[in-house]
Amino acid sequence: MKRILYTFLLLLLSSNAHAALNVFACEPEWAALTQQLAGDKASIYTATGPLQDPHQVQARPSLIARARRANLVVCTGAELEIGWMPVVLRESVNDAIQPGSIGHFEAAKYVTMLEVPTRLDRADGDVHAAGNPHIQTDARNFLPIADALSKRLIQLDPANTAFYQQRLADFETRWREAIAKWEKQAAPLKGMPIIAHHKGFPYMNDWLGLKEVAELEPKPGMEPSAAYLGEVLNELQQRPARMVIRAAYQNERPSEWIAERAHIPAVMLPFTVGGTPQATDLFTMFDDTIQRLLAGLK
Ligand SMILES: [Zn+2]
Repeated sequence: MKRILYTFLLLLLSSNAHAALNVFACEPEWAALTQQLAGDKASIYTATGPLQDPHQVQARPSLIARARRANLVVCTGAELEIGWMPVVLRESVNDAIQPGSIGHFEAAKYVTMLEVPTRLDRADGDVHAAGNPHIQTDARNFLPIADALSKRLIQLDPANTAFYQQRLADFETRWREAIAKWEKQAAPLKGMPIIAHHKGFPYMNDWLGLKEVAELEPKPGMEPSAAYLGEVLNELQQRPARMVIRAAYQNERPSEWIAERAHIPAVMLPFTVGGTPQATDLFTMFDDTIQRLLAGLK
């Protein structure tokens, strides 16, 4: 009896603690995608929360400790994490996850980048050489990223190849259906002029046909002064906008200031999984994004 119990305990321990892969996801959307593709084969740690500015993260010891144990890091790349990931990677002293190794995955490498600058000047603010890094706001981008990430999971854990292939096929089917649904729902948004707090949504705008006429930040990453907001408000008389959008992690005050004076709604979007109570996974993140934009039209 004792022996049986012991064997049972061992089995229990191994099934719980024995996910094949230890994944360090830089942002919640990549944790969510890894979860879709790897299921219980991965134990996933998410380095940043949905209400945190992903450009501004501290390379805390807890992040470094997690990176030390990881077999795979899944990040946006395109310099989004340039302020903290190089430190986390260096301090982790973990060869398996350094740039260029199989354990280092950057989603931005698999999509067409927008807003790639023709010149780089610090005076232009927080501009990234590889283009705008906020690729997760276009649902279509998840297809090539999922394909590449699934291949990477297989490289790292070949024993579970069939499992990962099945999960990918299943995700792709459900994702394609969802994209068709979202595009249909979002049809009334096409051509709609908007203002954005930060240049966080060019991929979504490109996908759904929204027209960004202004940003509230004078330069990317720089909070607007009252005088600058006044200028934006003046320009709106020439180029009216239907709403002002921002990511959940951004300060609501500049949006609210403009919204009140221009008599347009301020619309907060989840931006990542967990950004709103409704955005519990990748599917509901886009459901909620589109519902909030449509509600702003009314
Ligand atoms: Zn940004």
